Amino acid sequence: MVNNIIDAITNGYLKGRQIEVLYEQSMVSITAVFIASILYASCLWQLGSVELVSTWLIVFLFVTLLRLSGTFIYFKSKKKNEKNDKWLIVFLIGAFISGLMWGLLAYLMLPSDDLLITMFTILFICGLAAGAVATYSVCKSVYLAFTLPSVLPLAVILIVNKDQTIITLGYLILICFCFLLLSFNKFNKALNTSLLYQQEKEILLEELKSDVNNRKKIEAQLKIEKEQAEKHSEMMLELSSRDGLTGIYNRRRFDEFMHNEWGRSTRNKSALSLIMCDIDHFKLYNDNYGHQKGDDCLILVAHILEDYTRRGGDFAARYGGEEFVIVLPDTNSSDAYKIAEQIRISIEALKIKNKASDNSDFVTCSFGIATITPSQTINSSTLLKHADEALYLAKEKGRNNIISMQIE
Ligand code: GH3
Ligand code: MG
Ligand code: MG
Repeated sequence: MVNNIIDAITNGYLKGRQIEVLYEQSMVSITAVFIASILYASCLWQLGSVELVSTWLIVFLFVTLLRLSGTFIYFKSKKKNEKNDKWLIVFLIGAFISGLMWGLLAYLMLPSDDLLITMFTILFICGLAAGAVATYSVCKSVYLAFTLPSVLPLAVILIVNKDQTIITLGYLILICFCFLLLSFNKFNKALNTSLLYQQEKEILLEELKSDVNNRKKIEAQLKIEKEQAEKHSEMMLELSSRDGLTGIYNRRRFDEFMHNEWGRSTRNKSALSLIMCDIDHFKLYNDNYGHQKGDDCLILVAHILEDYTRRGGDFAARYGGEEFVIVLPDTNSSDAYKIAEQIRISIEALKIKNKASDNSDFVTCSFGIATITPSQTINSSTLLKHADEALYLAKEKGRNNIISMQIE
């Protein structure tokens, strides 16, 4: 504990705090000492020492004003923490001069034949030394600077007296002063320990704040990284659901979508339509115009299918090769037919030349539609099978055709 305090005294922060406490208390303590001096003077005026005490009081007022100005300048000074030693010396000088003034008063007033004057002087000087235990408790040198020049002259003047009672009083004052010093030591240690803990608390608080800030930064960084990772994985998922050539959904995504829609339509007992679309004579098209042109044609057809499935819930995918599928939830057979017909016309309207086709001068498609209200006893492959059968019939019928089947 004591070691801590010694360490702390050498520590700049604590020194700064000690001086701050001294100056904070000094406004009250300096004024209180001055009030005490007026009280003392008024008592002595009544006992007749007007001239001497008035002169002392005027000088003491001057000292008090100087000390108060010092305190005022300290609080105004922005660099007070950088000049701890200077401010401590200023305070020490102030306290010493103040103490000296009381010592001088004892020298001027004592020994006196008037016992009342003697008692008043002892009472005031000892009272001030006792009060200073609290006000200067933060710094031993200041306490000594105030009490030594005030209490010691008083005690010495009394001890060198001839009157045995007065001599005893002098010794009593010395003994009292020793007790005051002991009690001062306790106060001093307690206060400095509390300042030390205050400093530790502030350091811990700062560390805590910086920890919290660091944690917040890490959390923010983690949040950004998590969002990036989520975006990345969404992007990867989206990419893995798309067909590399046409950009519309692929077979894998179709299987997933179909599985979910089958469940949803089963629960809702709603109609579900599936259109299978196949480009007519596409092998011949490839043979005549080349594979690259074939790819371009696939892309154009895919975009048309995508355009017709912009309604929320509708879905188009490349099923494989030159075959596509369209899933239409909550859509009955006749509505599905209307959509297929619009798509068929739009593809034909692209007027992509296919000279080898026997049913049209342009690229056309055939459509097989199957519609069902799903139930738990049937599975989705039934719908696919029927759509495929319908497509086959459409081809049979001469291509560029739509055949629709309602599954009961
Ligand atoms: P049908 O009218 O009976 O459907 O005759 P089709 O020639 O369209 O059918 P077939 O199954 O005989 O030929 C399909 C052709 O589609 C064969 C293949 O070269 C072509 N094909 C499949 N995938 C692609 C692709 O990614 N790019 C290109 N350019 N051609 C493809
Ligand atoms: Mg084909
Ligand atoms: Mg085919």
